Amino acid sequence: MDLAEYKGVYVIAEQFEGKLRNVSFELLGQGKKLAETLGEEVGAVLIGHNVKPLAQELLNYGAQKVYVYDDAALENYNTTAYTKVIEDFTAKHKPNVFLIGATNIGRDLGPRIANELKTGLTADCTELGVDDDKKTIIWTRPALGGNIMAEIICPNNRPQMGTVRPNVFKKPEPTEGAAGDVIDEKADLTEKDFLTKFIELIKVGGDGIKVEEADVVVSGGRGMKEEDFKEGGCLVELANILGGAVAASRAVTDQGWINPLFQIGQTGKTVSPKLYIAAGISGAIQHLAGILGSDCIVAINKDEDAPIFNVCDFGIVGDAHEVLPLIIEAVKKH
Ligand code: FAD
Repeated sequence: MDLAEYKGVYVIAEQFEGKLRNVSFELLGQGKKLAETLGEEVGAVLIGHNVKPLAQELLNYGAQKVYVYDDAALENYNTTAYTKVIEDFTAKHKPNVFLIGATNIGRDLGPRIANELKTGLTADCTELGVDDDKKTIIWTRPALGGNIMAEIICPNNRPQMGTVRPNVFKKPEPTEGAAGDVIDEKADLTEKDFLTKFIELIKVGGDGIKVEEADVVVSGGRGMKEEDFKEGGCLVELANILGGAVAASRAVTDQGWINPLFQIGQTGKTVSPKLYIAAGISGAIQHLAGILGSDCIVAINKDEDAPIFNVCDFGIVGDAHEVLPLIIEAVKKH
């Protein structure tokens, strides 16, 4: 493999129901920095059906080129078909780097692509850099239970690939109407490329705001009760009136009080909302790993020595079952 033939940093953009996910913009911000250091261009690959109107948004967030694979057969995410699209793209354009969101889709797609292209993939990166050779990406990610930060490189294969968690990096400021190229592409897809068939979309948690994209996250821990996480429960009520999403610590998801998709922390989701309310959460390091990008953390805990009070902006020592109804009442008044 002639590594020098491979050029350009490409974000595999993720869209759902005609809306781009924030992580695609966060990755474009990082992709631009990497591309500048490498002396290459930054672009995006957009896959789906009727998605071309979204290309301008990717240009606004820094893409210089957007390659659009618009096909009715690609309307719903399909692991093998989307992988084939990226294989075709790679054969034609020889990209140096792929950046993928560590979302449910990205975590499914990334390893499959890496396997088909016989290259490496670093999952769940929290930092991205370029080695002194100005060629090799240094992918940094927590390892061994978060005790060390591992720096991983892919020296002998291309493309270099990694997934990055949503909310680890800030979204760049968009430039409305930014110039760039939008290029129509067609993948060579046959029935064989669709190993699974889309039957029905069942949304976990309904149509509500996604926890990783919410401006307000109301999160509960072991100090809460199972009914607090259900419709009518105090966590859900507060989240609803603040226009936010409910989340939980691992102690809660392990007990099955709420779906693990709502778990925040090292082995859950990373969030960076404007407001994170932690009720009945002790503040273990693994939980904090997912919330420290929040603009404002409010903690409610009946133990004044709980570690969450070391990181919060506002702390309330008290029983969450007494404090939350007071907050709900106060918010309703305003
Ligand atoms: P606890 O630590 O039991 O804390 C409950 C808190 O509630 C206490 O501080 C208590 O004072 C308070 N409380 C009790 N009753 C009330 C009340 N009525 N009102 C107010 N406060 C009250 N954890 C995560 O959250 N996310 C992760 O992604 C994650 N990943 C992990 C990965 C690894 C490899 C390991 C080893 C652990 C991981 N954990 C994770 C688990 C983590 O170490 C903690 O065990 C967990 O975060 C504790 O959850 P908690 O704060 O809800 O429960």
